Amino acid sequence: MATATKSKPKSSSNGHAAFTQAQTTIFDQVDLPKDPDNLYTQTVSVMLHAAEMMNLPHYLQLILAQPKNEIMVHFPVKMDNGKHELFKGYRVQHNNALGPYKGGLRFHPDVHLDDVKSLAFLMTMKCSLVGVPYGGGKGGIKVDSRKHSKTEMEHIVRRFTAAIAHNIGPDYDIPAPDVGSNSQHMAWIADTYSFLSEIGGDNPAAVITGKPVEYGGSLGREKATGQGVVDTLVEMLPELKLKPEKCTFSVLGYGNVGSWSGKIFQDKGAKMIAVADHTGFIRNDKGIDAFDLDVHVKKTGGVKGFAKATSISKEEFYKTKVDVFIPAALEQMIQEPEAEMITCRVVAEGANAPTTPAGERVLMAKGIEVLPAILCNAGGVTVSYFEWVQNKTFQSWDLEYVDRELNKHMVRAAQKTRKARQEFKCDLRTAAYIAALQRLKEAYEVRGIFP
Ligand code: GLU
Repeated sequence: MATATKSKPKSSSNGHAAFTQAQTTIFDQVDLPKDPDNLYTQTVSVMLHAAEMMNLPHYLQLILAQPKNEIMVHFPVKMDNGKHELFKGYRVQHNNALGPYKGGLRFHPDVHLDDVKSLAFLMTMKCSLVGVPYGGGKGGIKVDSRKHSKTEMEHIVRRFTAAIAHNIGPDYDIPAPDVGSNSQHMAWIADTYSFLSEIGGDNPAAVITGKPVEYGGSLGREKATGQGVVDTLVEMLPELKLKPEKCTFSVLGYGNVGSWSGKIFQDKGAKMIAVADHTGFIRNDKGIDAFDLDVHVKKTGGVKGFAKATSISKEEFYKTKVDVFIPAALEQMIQEPEAEMITCRVVAEGANAPTTPAGERVLMAKGIEVLPAILCNAGGVTVSYFEWVQNKTFQSWDLEYVDRELNKHMVRAAQKTRKARQEFKCDLRTAAYIAALQRLKEAYEVRGIFP
């Protein structure tokens, strides 16, 4: 039985740093649990740490510590067997100071409110850092798409769209794919919204990004998050005296982000030697071909059974010595036990929030550099922005142009992060948050607070 799943969180007395007095005060003021294992509390505490360092005004710390809107819906759908099931869906709108709410829709059986709130918060930070005119949002449906037929999924997705249709819009809140959702789902959402909406503007399909290229999608969107991971690595590796063509790497999670990161990094000359997902752990010191593995995963549903690699244990996977480790699965997967085992120079966070604060402290103590998710995986939302611009202006950009523009955004975000690190003498994650918060602070300073 494979176990590429989250470790059970350790108790707060076991390895977690206490919150500072200033953080505790904010948690009390905005009514957040002071539980160090709570994902949302963890996420906000990282922001508050950066906020303290840069002296972010108190009112902004309060505003950012809670999302603006939390929408939860329940809706019935008729299954293929004629019986009805009730589904739970979410859309959390964290902040829209810099532009419309933006962020993916996660279709996963473990989706819950704190999870969606954390991911929405991270979108606010990510969009600010990477310089796109968006705020942050996130949503999802508590569903295991593998257990439903295509027809059932279509009905679930369309019914969910109807349930949140009045809360999204091309100039208000623009969802996109995330874990478990894909371009086909986005097409159904765009079609349902276009049908229901009388206020969609000239092109109601701009309500969602990550659509198929045949229906308003952008070239380069599917690979964009992986492309951004590799663009970030190429930009950041030289300061660690590493060259992509000399790097070995391992990947945790071989879905969209993991497989594209693997394929694009391999194209730069790097060698993938270990991969894990929910089906198993594999290794081949001579190299695992990222393209061959992608074909195998698409055919069989996971890395297990890939003929040109050996099946290994979870411990062996994490202990495999590599230059770059790319977590590209779910959040909170690198906790203290995993961090203790990881042997690499750089962790490039392809997933959102894959490293817990306690896990990160272990990595740092071992001298491992962490390229934080709000920088490293911002490629997806950046090309989503390009898709939206193309929809709104009725253009279609070629792939070279998309890739070039994406690279500009990624390099600029990396430079801003480096600059903040230098100025505040902190780690890269704190620096990325400081750079993101700086842009939000400037926006709030000029727009003020109504009334
Ligand atoms: N779900 C992706 C993310 O977490 C993409 C969001 C988007 O394109 O809006 O960044």
